[in-house]
Amino acid sequence: MAMGALGGAACTPPPASQTPHLLLVSIDTLRADHISPAGYRRDTTPGLDRLAAQSVVYTHARTHAPWTKAAMASLFTSQLPIDHGLTRWPLTVAPEIPQLPEILHEAGFRTWAVTSHNAFDPDFNEFHHGFEVFDVSVWEGRCPETIQTAHRVTDLALQAWNTLDDGSEDPIFLWVHYFDPHDTYFHHDEVVDFGTGWANAYDEEIAWTDRELSRLLAAVEGRRDVVVAVVGDHGEELGERGYWGHAITLFEEQLRVPLLLKAPGLQPRVESAAVSLMDVPPTLLQLLDVEPPPTFHGRSLLPHPVPREHYAETDLRRFGRAVVSGDHKLIRTEEGQQLYDLATDPLERDDLAAAHPERVAALEQLLSRVYSTR
Ligand SMILES: [Zn+2]
Repeated sequence: MAMGALGGAACTPPPASQTPHLLLVSIDTLRADHISPAGYRRDTTPGLDRLAAQSVVYTHARTHAPWTKAAMASLFTSQLPIDHGLTRWPLTVAPEIPQLPEILHEAGFRTWAVTSHNAFDPDFNEFHHGFEVFDVSVWEGRCPETIQTAHRVTDLALQAWNTLDDGSEDPIFLWVHYFDPHDTYFHHDEVVDFGTGWANAYDEEIAWTDRELSRLLAAVEGRRDVVVAVVGDHGEELGERGYWGHAITLFEEQLRVPLLLKAPGLQPRVESAAVSLMDVPPTLLQLLDVEPPPTFHGRSLLPHPVPREHYAETDLRRFGRAVVSGDHKLIRTEEGQQLYDLATDPLERDDLAAAHPERVAALEQLLSRVYSTR
């Protein structure tokens, strides 16, 4: 694959015939609109800013489920939750569905994970498939919501990277999951105090996580043989609808996630087209020159995203289904349907369902194709 052709003529190709390494960072509960590269009013993420200057920044990436396990399973399988089967907390991904770490391990990558969420506990889940090392020592059986984890995550991830980066020709896949933007919120003397209240405390945790992520990113700074992907699993409601948290609704504050992609030969740019979490794994495999399996339902975002519908669902705290098609979004809940024009009403305040029944019917038809059982 001609890597230099992906992003434009100004790129420098990676060293010939060397498969790049992959550093995949997922950050829990990180809203897309609370990071500096998205134009947030606060400088919450100077580390992500530096990465963004060297990356393709996808400003309209959405998750398929507003809670960790379902979303991360989509990131690993390139399938919707209704297809990979992890739609409720105790369920797991069907073992016959290949996951990104397994695919990379089979392709010759040395694989290591540092996780900070009990959602990935290997005793009860199936996220560890394909990893030679699956480090859950950060939380060690304690509820991750009760402890600060980002500093320890970075320490362990740096140890992992330094162990793996030994000059071997075999490429590295390191997955690192940060938890701290998830509540409970802690105060951190090391970062800006944004003030009291839920939203301010949330931003402080983002700044703290970014500070720790920066220490990890420094280890690969300037490397032309490393693909770096940073992605969120879901967003967070901060009282917009009267709730605080996630897995509650399918509004944009819970669905929109950060997505930054830095790769050898990939020209930095801002990509405003709508993209889906399930498109990330085929994109990564393209960058790593690994063939995606036929079970992947997502499409590579390179060289440019192809417009298509985005689907999202939740069965965790409430029932919901949603489809985004172009500028229009239909949300179906137990209470009925809501239609929004995201171009003119990005905060989803003006429900157009009653005024545009024909648009509702067209989007409902799309939803019914995917979610035929509900
Ligand atoms: Zn999460």
